[in-house]
Amino acid sequence: MTGKREYMKQESPWAEQEAELDQAPKSSLSSQAPQKGDISSLLEHKPTLLRSSAAFLFNDSVLKYPLHTLDDRVVVGTSCLGYSEKTYLVVPAIQVGCPVQCNFCQVGDQGYERSLTAKEIVDEIALIVQKSHQYGYPLAQTRVKISFVADGDPLTNPNFGQALEQIAERAVVPMKVSTAYPDTPLAERLFDEICSFSATYGDTVQFQISLNSTDAEYRARIAKIPLADYRKIREAGEKWQSDVPHARKVNLTFTLTQETPCTPEDIKDILTPDLFAIRLRDWAPTERGLRYGLHRIGPEKLKELADRFVSEGYNVIPGRTGNTERMFILSAGQLTGMYQSLLR
Ligand code: SF4
Repeated sequence: MTGKREYMKQESPWAEQEAELDQAPKSSLSSQAPQKGDISSLLEHKPTLLRSSAAFLFNDSVLKYPLHTLDDRVVVGTSCLGYSEKTYLVVPAIQVGCPVQCNFCQVGDQGYERSLTAKEIVDEIALIVQKSHQYGYPLAQTRVKISFVADGDPLTNPNFGQALEQIAERAVVPMKVSTAYPDTPLAERLFDEICSFSATYGDTVQFQISLNSTDAEYRARIAKIPLADYRKIREAGEKWQSDVPHARKVNLTFTLTQETPCTPEDIKDILTPDLFAIRLRDWAPTERGLRYGLHRIGPEKLKELADRFVSEGYNVIPGRTGNTERMFILSAGQLTGMYQSLLR
């Protein structure tokens, strides 16, 4: 990354932060449920389990915050403008590393240390919102969406359902939950919890499954833990439609490389267009993916695949890697390693 020093903004030393926390009033969480879109409770929330020591600004549009846990793990939270430029995305990490360890994703190189607790996740979201305000990005004045799409898999964090409940006590904003959908009893339990939560939550929850390939064997090979087969994914799509009022279709997302088998005709009879939408994304290179021999695909191939899904009756949601993400190689996990090397 060039210009690293220019972009790194030092914050107050920890001792100062701790003093501020000691003097802070007790939680101002109101007994009343928050109004839809109001994130003022997150601005007032006093984080005690995570601390911020630096922030990185990329291209005046993406802010990344390395955050330290009390047991001195580092996770990276992000805020950035969404595709529409009318919504700020808040993207919290939910684990230290990730147990799924997909071969294309840099987070996989961190291994897996532990899941964040519900309270740590709330602290992280509050810190992302507060630090963004501090640096002149007033999230509270625009639409905010919380996207669990990086740095951990929600269906492998046993605390995830509880985290959703605790967030909803402080803010009611759209959310996106993205998972590789592991084939484990824990994932089933967590999916049930997410369905129950989404059925009564005051805003939209979008559910997304990283299918990554239409070839079941390839999909199984790129992850380190067993993933649900297409029959289980179909059942999840049916449950989502039946349990969640006004549910949006479950997104099936693909991070595509030249090596990815992707043939829409192979899934159209089981992962049907009435239950699932498609999101195609070109892989932004990572050291890990390059080691696994992956190669980028070009925009023409991406468009050709999108057209083929459309001709099979699917809604296709655009998902190209953003310019800033491409320019600074900002895929999940990239900054964590760089930040840790700065600390050494
Ligand atoms: S893509 Fe998601 S599930 Fe896969 S290793 Fe990265 S963070 Fe984990």
